[in-house]
Amino acid sequence: MTGRLLIRDTCLADGRSPSLQVGVSLLIEDGRIAWVSPDEKEADDADVLDGGGATIVPAFVDAHSHLTMPGGSHWIDRGSDPPEHLRAVARHNAARLVQAGVLWARDVGSPAGPDGRAISLLVAQEMSSAAGAPYIRVAGTWIAKDGYLPMTVAVKDGAGLREAALAQLDAGTDFVKIMLDPPDRSDQCPFTVDEVRGACEAVHARGRTITAHATILDGARVGAEAGVDSIEHGMELDDSIAVTMKRNNVALVSTLSVLASWATFDRTTRIERFTSEEGKRRLAARRDGAFAAIKAARRAGVRIAAGSDFGGGSVRAGHLAWEVEQLVEAGLEPHEALAAISWRRRAAQDRTCGQAAARGPGRPGSRAWRPARRSSRTLARLGCLQGGRARCLENDRDSDTSEFHPDSDNENSRTGQAFFSQELAGCLSYGRI
Ligand SMILES: [Zn+2]
Repeated sequence: MTGRLLIRDTCLADGRSPSLQVGVSLLIEDGRIAWVSPDEKEADDADVLDGGGATIVPAFVDAHSHLTMPGGSHWIDRGSDPPEHLRAVARHNAARLVQAGVLWARDVGSPAGPDGRAISLLVAQEMSSAAGAPYIRVAGTWIAKDGYLPMTVAVKDGAGLREAALAQLDAGTDFVKIMLDPPDRSDQCPFTVDEVRGACEAVHARGRTITAHATILDGARVGAEAGVDSIEHGMELDDSIAVTMKRNNVALVSTLSVLASWATFDRTTRIERFTSEEGKRRLAARRDGAFAAIKAARRAGVRIAAGSDFGGGSVRAGHLAWEVEQLVEAGLEPHEALAAISWRRRAAQDRTCGQAAARGPGRPGSRAWRPARRSSRTLARLGCLQGGRARCLENDRDSDTSEFHPDSDNENSRTGQAFFSQELAGCLSYGRI
């Protein structure tokens, strides 16, 4: 074991163009990319891995995740499990993420512990010093209109919204998450534009960012007009709202795979909302609407990042590739979808996580690029890894224990810059199955 690994004759996809670069060599030194060469190249003393027929992709960023919860068809119930159990779930989820190539998770909501602080804060603290753990940024506990869900911080009005947002920051969160869906399941946002704007301004005054959950049209409208930094889900955007998002630099974080996950529950559960004909019809309509929203966002030039919503939705941790597949079905080019879970997510992260993002994955010279490994069922179906079948690169360094601290990334690595400037690849147009 030399600490150096040469991957030979492999293929690169970076999500920036629709083509792949083949026949490249890549040297990893102490867990970081030292150089990438378009030709066969040797490296003295390096262990050699035959990368023939596999594709190197950027490390992934799950921009919408809930580490403390396990997902599944009872996903909301699981949020009421004991705090120690939720922390154990988070450890399990973190391991699954890294295994699937997801090195960043943006945690957009967790239940609070007995002390009132979000459990995700303890998780983030633990992960920050844990070997082999993903980078994590947390929004703390969801802030919602009174009556929404018991595990949220309940507020009555705009003043409460602002106060609760600042309280989350005071507790140590990286950013803030508010819910713009109403408790009564109506189609009206429970807050006015001015109320949300007040919370945005207060959070921005602290140099932090604020994101808004909005699955309904009116919630997205309010969030976009108020100038939140991003809208989560955004399943009912129209062209007018998308244009407002673009104008106010509001990113969209898609979570389409939740709907795809629900669609499987008609066969795997007895839950009537998923198994009944009426339930299936409603779900199909919702999916069509969500796909149309992605198209509207794309037309308007909105930055699209993506997340699996694992834990806080029914998806399980590590199935992020499902989201890529859904985005492609919704109309994104394959390399755009890959961008949404890698470098473009970093752009969203920049807005939503402040300073932290500048050191995130996708940075040249960092651990941002790694052999895609141990892919989920859906990643295998993408066919992005080797023309149809995902393959594990059996590289024991993939599970190494070297640190992931962002501060140690060499952002100005000359080789790294060159790597990026080459516009090496695109991806999934290579062949979905
Ligand atoms: Zn969520």
